[in-house]
Amino acid sequence: DFEVNLPNLGSDELGDLSNSIHKLAKDLKRLKNERNEFLASIAHELNTPLTYLIGYSKVAKREDLSDKDRKYYLEIIGEESNRMKELMKNLLDLARMDENTFTISKEHFLAKPFLENIYKFVAPSFEIKKIKLNLVCKSNLHIYADALRLEQIILNLLDNALKYSNENSEVCLKAYEKDGSTVISVIDTGIGIPSNEIEFIFEKLYRVEKSRSRAYGGSGIGLAVVKELVDAHGGTIEVESKIGQGSTFKITI
Ligand code: ADP
Repeated sequence: DFEVNLPNLGSDELGDLSNSIHKLAKDLKRLKNERNEFLASIAHELNTPLTYLIGYSKVAKREDLSDKDRKYYLEIIGEESNRMKELMKNLLDLARMDENTFTISKEHFLAKPFLENIYKFVAPSFEIKKIKLNLVCKSNLHIYADALRLEQIILNLLDNALKYSNENSEVCLKAYEKDGSTVISVIDTGIGIPSNEIEFIFEKLYRVEKSRSRAYGGSGIGLAVVKELVDAHGGTIEVESKIGQGSTFKITI
């Protein structure tokens, strides 16, 4: 409660002012809620890998462990550390994009070795979840893009494909040429996205169903970053998805 001494305003003007202040207060409250929700989801996202790191590093130290088991736990530790690193990268990029201090630099490179590197990087996490990852790409396909940024785009899409797929399913990373552009698609046979939510998934902080995100983790920033990065390339991204059947994310650059 506070008092303000206003100049002599007519009752209409006072009414307008009061409405504006009311609206401002409401906006501030909404922003505060959004910020809290954002912080909570980031904390949750960081907490999950940390829990693995702490737990598995304790187990990996045990003397009675076989070399094979120790290797398995160390692989998980490596994987979860990478996940945290990717999340931090996304967060930093989002901040940079908001400040408009974000640049990309394109170069020509061969698609196959580039995608094979990404494949090797993510393979252990797919193996752990018993999901078969297929790579389809012709040897002579070229890409004109910012390689590091494109890698980040694909890693985000693969991370989602992995997160929202069931054990013993398949994911396909496919690249091909169409009308002079390069198309890269990530196809999963996972839980799918409700058709009425597809238009929102690229919004910052948007997560399909709160209960779903609680079960699968997720901060709702991966696809926002993907969209910004694809836009920065002057490319497009399309989604096709059916609940219970899977999703296909297709980037054209
Ligand atoms: P999150 O960190 O929550 O995964 P994203 O921005 O990457 O955030 O994705 C936004 C939402 O879109 C997710 O919460 C998820 O529900 C849905 N989603 C994204 N990719 C997939 C996919 N491959 N299969 C099913 N749902 C997906």
